[in-house]
Amino acid sequence: MKPLHCLTRYSPPRSTFHLSLLTFHLSLLTRHLSLVTLLLLLPAWCIALPLDSTPVPGGIAVVRLPNDVAPATLRYRDRKVLVLQQDGEQSAVVGLSLGTKPGRHYLKAETTQGESLSIAFTVEDKAYEEQHITIEDKRKVNPEKRDMERITREKKQISAALQQWSAQPDVVIDFVKPVEGPTSSPFGLKRFFNEQPRNPHSGLDIAAPEGTPIRAPAPGTVIDTGNYFFNGNTVLIDHGQGLVTMYCHMSAIDVKPGTRVETGDVIGKVGMTGRVTGPHLHWGVSLNDARVDPVLFIPAEEPAAE
Ligand SMILES: [Zn+2]
Repeated sequence: MKPLHCLTRYSPPRSTFHLSLLTFHLSLLTRHLSLVTLLLLLPAWCIALPLDSTPVPGGIAVVRLPNDVAPATLRYRDRKVLVLQQDGEQSAVVGLSLGTKPGRHYLKAETTQGESLSIAFTVEDKAYEEQHITIEDKRKVNPEKRDMERITREKKQISAALQQWSAQPDVVIDFVKPVEGPTSSPFGLKRFFNEQPRNPHSGLDIAAPEGTPIRAPAPGTVIDTGNYFFNGNTVLIDHGQGLVTMYCHMSAIDVKPGTRVETGDVIGKVGMTGRVTGPHLHWGVSLNDARVDPVLFIPAEEPAAE
């Protein structure tokens, strides 16, 4: 290491951390599967390794960290960042919001000796498609004055939950899909409600009949539940280190803040509460307070098409 106070280091070539991530994913798998099954599954994992996807707005950057980085000091845009430890190596898993500009970005950290570090990674561009939706309830597109107070209050409550940070060493990032069903609206679409531009689609919509059970995709703790103007009946789960998932438009909520959930536990049922055109689950995933494509966490699924 050069004796500079502030170093800029570049992330290693993709091929390098492809291998280390593969190792990482395989070790996750070995918890559940025998070696024979593992070998049979290997080609599929090679193709569908989700966290090896190119860093794009709405995606994830997986950045190998020098061994001497103190994980607790790592920041991206002043937010703490998820760090995974595996075989003596550590990698940052950085959420990139849809508003992220393509180009070079930097993680800030300190070494265990207290040296400042700047670790660079590159974000590429991604163009998301447009979606035009007609909403019958015009109040859900142009809320009345009396709705605005409620909307502002709820926005603060949801933001606080999405900024949740709990320091826990083992964060499960290979998710099980919370509801089986076709994608009715992928992540990232540029949205127009009744031909008026609105925020891009910050989650994945899975179509399923009303009453279908919704299952926790990974272990975590319920941090908030509520009935919100746009999102309807909603549950938020904290999975640790800034990884938070959100479930909206539910017909029923079966958990409370503080409920500990394991993978597959039922948290509620699919519904059509809030701003919807039909029954579906809106599933959001937030990482370091950036909304990212949930599909990236389901190994068997492909991310939203460009
Ligand atoms: Zn949605």
